[in-house]
Amino acid sequence: MTTLIENVLVPGHDEPTTIVVEDGRITSLGAPQMVHGTTASVGGADPAERGDGTDRIDGAGLLALPGLIDAHAHIDKTLFSGPWVPNPGVEQVAERIAYERRVRDDYGLPNADYVAALVERMIVGGTTHVRTHTDVDPGVGLRGVEVVAEVAERYADAITIEQVAFPQGGLITNPGTLDLLAEATKAGATTIGGLDPAGFDQAPNEHLDAIFELAVATGSGLDIHLHDDGTLGAWEMQQIARRTVDHGLGGRVAISHAFAIAHEPTQDALIAAFAEAGVALNTAAVYDVPVPPLDKLAAAGVAYGSGSDGINDLWGPYGDGDMLRRAMLVGYRNSARTDAGLALALDTATYGAARVLGIEAYGIAPGAPADLVLVRARSVAEAVAAVPPRELVLKRGRVVARGGTFVG
Ligand SMILES: [Zn+2]
Repeated sequence: MTTLIENVLVPGHDEPTTIVVEDGRITSLGAPQMVHGTTASVGGADPAERGDGTDRIDGAGLLALPGLIDAHAHIDKTLFSGPWVPNPGVEQVAERIAYERRVRDDYGLPNADYVAALVERMIVGGTTHVRTHTDVDPGVGLRGVEVVAEVAERYADAITIEQVAFPQGGLITNPGTLDLLAEATKAGATTIGGLDPAGFDQAPNEHLDAIFELAVATGSGLDIHLHDDGTLGAWEMQQIARRTVDHGLGGRVAISHAFAIAHEPTQDALIAAFAEAGVALNTAAVYDVPVPPLDKLAAAGVAYGSGSDGINDLWGPYGDGDMLRRAMLVGYRNSARTDAGLALALDTATYGAARVLGIEAYGIAPGAPADLVLVRARSVAEAVAAVPPRELVLKRGRVVARGGTFVG
């Protein structure tokens, strides 16, 4: 099965080109003759003459971006498409966790219908891959993991959904959770989570030892929520970098939120430690909390992704899963004005996120799955700054959304 996506702008190419897709994978750019053994150019070829089962998609001069990656979401928590629940406005992480524990059952969370509605919205927005942190604790058990796995399977032809088994309610302070995290890896979670080992769980060494050992034992990666800031958060980050090296997990460990990276006295040393250890960072660029510095991390070669974080849930009212808008927020919060700065911002939802998640074949290049999103923009920078509608979204060469509508 051959699909030609014709007349698209591909970043790095001066002229509109053709993306050639064979069985869901990109095989070449602008050289369809390689596929069919003819010298006919795509523009000059008569579709009727081809008569070989080739699908042709008119790109109409739109900009093609690789399918967007949401490197940090919480789709199990969402109320998306459900009732509007006024937020109580609690300030501290611990208070938000307690509130969620208290009322989540009242709102029937996790809810597969809300999760599915959100997933469709993400697909329409051009997201073709999402990493979601699913709550695992003795209260909810593995219900969230199962709900997300069921929805993921339903939409597997349109989006790849991977799960982090997330101890949102604490690990050392919440007996039984560690065993459930191990169980979650058997139920489909591919990454182990963590949460403020010092600030919330009050047992940093025990917490980190437990999740690193579990990651090694289950062959999982790690993605640790770290809201702790200042010197405490910086110390925890050093501990994570050291353990990453000790456990041979370079390239498979991410720190999400990572507010302490803004702590100036230790910033450069931490960035150097992350680069050396192979620790990645994720941000959601939310509210007024610190955002990791795009330019410094890029210069040091540290993988840097972004994500929606919570979307309309008991933690906060905002969000729609739009990763192009998220990239804009990352650029905005970094005061990125140049085209290069805007491109770095998009990178957190594309190539950078792919590095964070360890996705090997990715991008608009031969060998990568044809996960693509087409937008009306003349450059990557314009796409990030203007956040245009997504005209066409493809997963493995198949159209899954068109003009803002999910088509399956
Ligand atoms: Zn989060």
